[in-house]
Amino acid sequence: MSLVSVVERASEMFAKCFGVPPLWKAAAPGRVNLIGEHTDYNEGFVLPMAIERFTVLVANRNSKREVTLHSVTTGETATFSLRTKVEQGTPSWSNYVRGVIAGFQERGIKVGGFNAVIDSTVPFGGGVSSSAALEVAAATLLEEMVGKSLDPIEKALLCQRAEHQFAGVPCGIMDQFTSVLARENHALMLDCRSRTATPVPMTDPSVTVLVVNSNVRHRLVDGVYASRRQQCETAAKVLKVRALRDATLKDLAAARRTIDPVVFRRARHVITENERTIQAAQAIGRRNWSHVGSLMYASHASLRDDYEVSCPELDAIVKVAQEISEEDGMIGCRMTGAGFGGCAVGLVRTKTAKAIARRFEDGYEAMTGNMPSIFASRPAGGARVIS
Ligand code: ADP
Ligand code: MG
Repeated sequence: MSLVSVVERASEMFAKCFGVPPLWKAAAPGRVNLIGEHTDYNEGFVLPMAIERFTVLVANRNSKREVTLHSVTTGETATFSLRTKVEQGTPSWSNYVRGVIAGFQERGIKVGGFNAVIDSTVPFGGGVSSSAALEVAAATLLEEMVGKSLDPIEKALLCQRAEHQFAGVPCGIMDQFTSVLARENHALMLDCRSRTATPVPMTDPSVTVLVVNSNVRHRLVDGVYASRRQQCETAAKVLKVRALRDATLKDLAAARRTIDPVVFRRARHVITENERTIQAAQAIGRRNWSHVGSLMYASHASLRDDYEVSCPELDAIVKVAQEISEEDGMIGCRMTGAGFGGCAVGLVRTKTAKAIARRFEDGYEAMTGNMPSIFASRPAGGARVIS
């Protein structure tokens, strides 16, 4: 479904709910991380791109000092007052928008009462950041409503803060930065220490990204995530660096005897993954797809064996990919996101994308008994106002 169609669908719903057409319309994309996993909290590099899946907000003012939100996705409506500082509330999804409004209020920007409809083609809770798409679409809508644009970095940080404080999710900067700053036909190299974003041209139309959702989500994730972070901090301490971003494989090798073997492997993943991410950005810029592909496979192996955050289902997807040759259009594949389920990302030749998607379906079903959900995307542009 195209962005134009989603905007139309949302506008029709708005007219049905509120009896007038919407005045303001904004959209923001989801994202997928091409490479650079578990590097963000080590102050390293990530290389995401926005996907051609958008969350749309359409709105008009109301005569009350309150906000009414209707989500087509959930079928639910939320109403809350603007007379005081916006607080957390129900339904829980409304917190993503409440948090963004609160961010504007904190900056002394007055937000008037409005009604809005939310509609989206970003898979919900599927690891491609429907949450950031919602926050950033809301922030873009508010900018239009109040007639004041925020600095893009400030806007992304405002949205990240909304997710931290209102949704209770301690996310990094990748999702919101990508949804705000992405450029069509470009990936985005993010330095999670300096919080700078560099567009990486991915203009070659002969390559396409496939997002393959395993449709499994193993629990235990929270504890494991905290323990990985802890192990990275331990490694940084032993190596006497501020963060693993600052360590080299040579430093790590020199400390081998003083470092716990498990912590050693965790650190090796982070150090090599940062290196792979820098290399991938260069290789994408040079259209050296073969090299990008091998870096993606190496990233997966490292996440599986050293960082131990993969799972049989994600390994199955990558295994299917590895059985398809580069001549047949499969360039590279890896798990993407925190792990233990969620999505894998594949890089394929555009003309073979459909055939490869079918092979993922057949191969994954044969190996796991489940069906994956798959979509193809070229790198999309970031958040925008729709006129
Ligand atoms: P992801 O960001 O990977 O999709 P999250 O759990 O971070 O998964 O965010 C999903 C949550 O974001 C949903 O549970 C819901 O609360 C909110 N959300 C995202 N998109 C919408 C939408 N279109 N309508 C209402 N809530 C949404
Ligand atoms: Mg999210």
